[in-house]
Amino acid sequence: MEEQRLRICLLSSNTGIEDILRQIGISFFVADHAKGVSPFDASVLIVGREESSADLQLAKSFPEAGGAILDLGAASEMLTGIQAQKRMRNVLAPKAGVLDLPVSAFDVDAEVAHLGSGSDDWLKIDRMGIAPYCFLGLDIKVMESDRRTAFRRVGHFSGVKPAEEVSRCGHGAVPFLLAAILRRLCNERGLPFAHRWYHPGPHRTVTLFRLDTDFSDRDHIESYRTLIKKHGLKCTWFLHAGAHEKWLGLFRSFDEDEIALHCYRHFNSHDVNLMRSDIDKAVSIMKAAYLVPVGYAAPYGLYDSQIDAHLKANGISYRSDFGRAHDGLPVCENGLLQLPVHPISIGTLKSVKADESEMDLYFETSVQKLSRSFRPVALYDHPNHDLFVQSERMLGVLSALDGMRLTFREWAKFWNSRLSIPADPVLSVDGKIRDENTSDEFPLAVYLRNSHDVILQNRNDILTRLAVDLSVAEKSDDLIALRRFDLQAAKRGFLAKHFWRRTSPDREERMK
Ligand SMILES: [Zn+2]
Repeated sequence: MEEQRLRICLLSSNTGIEDILRQIGISFFVADHAKGVSPFDASVLIVGREESSADLQLAKSFPEAGGAILDLGAASEMLTGIQAQKRMRNVLAPKAGVLDLPVSAFDVDAEVAHLGSGSDDWLKIDRMGIAPYCFLGLDIKVMESDRRTAFRRVGHFSGVKPAEEVSRCGHGAVPFLLAAILRRLCNERGLPFAHRWYHPGPHRTVTLFRLDTDFSDRDHIESYRTLIKKHGLKCTWFLHAGAHEKWLGLFRSFDEDEIALHCYRHFNSHDVNLMRSDIDKAVSIMKAAYLVPVGYAAPYGLYDSQIDAHLKANGISYRSDFGRAHDGLPVCENGLLQLPVHPISIGTLKSVKADESEMDLYFETSVQKLSRSFRPVALYDHPNHDLFVQSERMLGVLSALDGMRLTFREWAKFWNSRLSIPADPVLSVDGKIRDENTSDEFPLAVYLRNSHDVILQNRNDILTRLAVDLSVAEKSDDLIALRRFDLQAAKRGFLAKHFWRRTSPDREERMK
C-alpha cells in the first residue's frame, strides 16, 4: 500500500482551470509526460479542451491504472468513441441528482460541447472499466476570460424578478460545479475529496455589508451608520468622495468600519483616462482627509481591467464589482483580488416596484440560499433612498446569520492568505487525512462518500460537521423559464431602457 495524494493533475497548463482550482483551494500540478503520473500521485487528471496527441497518452494510461478523469473534450473521442458536437447554449442545468450542487443552473452564452443529442449531454459521469470518467463540455479557459456583461435576473425568483448588469457567463457559479465534479470523481474512486475551506474556520459562511454612498448627504450617512451599529454589523463604505468633499473628515470617526473608494464623480466610462483622473482626484482628497482606501468598487458595478494598474499605483489591493462576478468566491486578477457581492440592492427592487413584503421575502430567501450552500453573503445598499425601514429589516436578516462578520478589507486579507496555502491532502495507509497547512483559521473541508456533510478538520483534528441543505438550491426550471422570458422581453423592447446604456459609447450618462 502506498500513500495516496489527493491533489489534482493537469494534462497541460490551463489558466482558467488553474484559477478555479485556486478558488476551490486544492493543490495541483502539470503532468510530467516523460515520467508519467501514478494514480497515487493525484486523485483526478484534468484533460483540457485542446491537448496535443502525444500528451493524450497519459489520458489513457492514468485511468487504466485506476485514476479518475475529468475531460473537457480532448480525450472524449479516444475514451468514449463518441465525437462531441458543439452547440450554442444560454443556460445549462445538470440532470437532477447527478451532483450535489447548490447552484442548479448556469448562464453560459457560449458554444458548449455535447456527447449526445440531449440537452444535458454537456455533463456525463460514467465509468470506464475501473476508472471514473466525467465529460464536461464547457470551455472553461474561454469562459473564465469572458468579460462580457448582460442584464440577468438574479437571486430569489418567486415574486419580483429584479435584473442587474452582471457577468454574462455566471462566473460566480462555475467553481462550485467543478468542486462538485471533483468530489464525485474522488468518491467514485473510493477516496475522500478535500480542499481548503472557503471561510475562516469553523464558520459556514461570511457576512459582509457594503454601502455605496452615491449622492448621500450627511444626514443619510449618519442615520444609516446608526442602523448598522444597532445591528452590530461591520460595514465597508465605498465613498462617492466628490459628494462629501466638504465633510469627508466625518468618516474618520467610523471606527471598526472600513472606508474605501467608489469615485469622485459618479459615472463610468470606456474612456480609461477619464476613469484614471477621477480615481486620482478621489484618492487625493481622501488622503488629504487622512482616509486611505485600499478597496475600490466601480460605479454601476462595471468591471474594466484597464484601470487595474492605475488602482494598484494608488494603493488599492482589492476590487468589488458585480459586473465581474457575484455570489461566489474571490478571485485574483492582475494582482487585485476581486470580492463578489450580491448585485441586487433595495434600489434595484424599488425600480421593479417591489412592495415591502416582496423585498423582505427577496432578502430572506436570497440570503438563506447563499448561506445554506456555503456561499459568501455580501449585500450592498445606498444610504440616500427613502426606504430606511426596509434597510433596517434587510440588516436584521443579515445580522441573524451565523456567518463570520468581516469588512471587505478583512475578507481580502483572509482570502489572500488562503490562496497562498491550498490544501495538499495526503491519505495515509492507516486511513487518516493529513495536510501540512491546516490550522484553526484555515481548516480542511473533507467530503466523504455517500454523505451530504462537509467535515471541517483543524490542526488538532477537531471535527465540525456542516450539513449542506440542498433543499434551498435554485430550481433550474425557474432559471430556464426566466431566461426565455428575458429573451422575449428583450425582443419586445421591454428591457430597452437598460440596453441603451450598454450600447452607449460613453457610460457617462449612466446616472441614477
Ligand atoms: Zn454608485
